Amino acid sequence: MAEKKERGLLVVISGFSGAGKGTLIRELMHRYPNYRLSVSATTRAPRAGEEDGRDYFFVSRDRFEEMIAQSELIEYASYVGNYYGTPKAYVEKMLDAGHDVILEIEIQGALKVKDIFPEAVFVFVAPPNAESLEQRLTGRGTESKEQVLARLKRAAEESRWMSDYEYLLVNDDLSETVENLHALLKSQHFSMGRHRAFTEELGAALNRFYSEEEK
Ligand code: 5GP
Repeated sequence: MAEKKERGLLVVISGFSGAGKGTLIRELMHRYPNYRLSVSATTRAPRAGEEDGRDYFFVSRDRFEEMIAQSELIEYASYVGNYYGTPKAYVEKMLDAGHDVILEIEIQGALKVKDIFPEAVFVFVAPPNAESLEQRLTGRGTESKEQVLARLKRAAEESRWMSDYEYLLVNDDLSETVENLHALLKSQHFSMGRHRAFTEELGAALNRFYSEEEK
């Protein structure tokens, strides 16, 4: 009796802008190619070096609103003046194929995912301290001073929801955080709740060793 191919895990990763989530996820996928990353749709303009379809699907506000109306998104949220959302089709397809799918999304969206996929794994990535967040946001030079400040204020707001997540990773040493994330996700596959069909079938098969009178 072999266990059927397991559906993949849905993994929600959130963290303040500048906490290093993007780098962490890229490095995780580089080391462990079986993970899949959901590419979100957004109305924000591409940053230098970002590619449509790889980093985001960059869409107009009209197109985004059409995606909402057509129920093409698992969740969406507005973040510092722009819409961001997770297209449904890719996520479902990859989960069915047995891949663990990562959503790198902010907190409002994560809370919506919790309602729809209560079995998802929720991970929050935090910087070791507030100063390093400010330094990283300023240092990457992709946002204006005002935008950096808006993102830091948003981080202060978001910090209220951190403890709603199941797991916390403090991203101090990137390499170590990647390994910790992988170990955490790997362990989720052994959760008893994910193997109900198997345990029921095994229990029933073992019960056949009782004779009719003994049952
Ligand atoms: P950025 O503009 O820095 O790429 O992303 C801003 C924020 O939007 C980040 O916290 C990122 O995790 C979040 N985000 C990206 N895609 C999605 C999405 O599909 N849904 C939600 N709710 N948030 C997203």
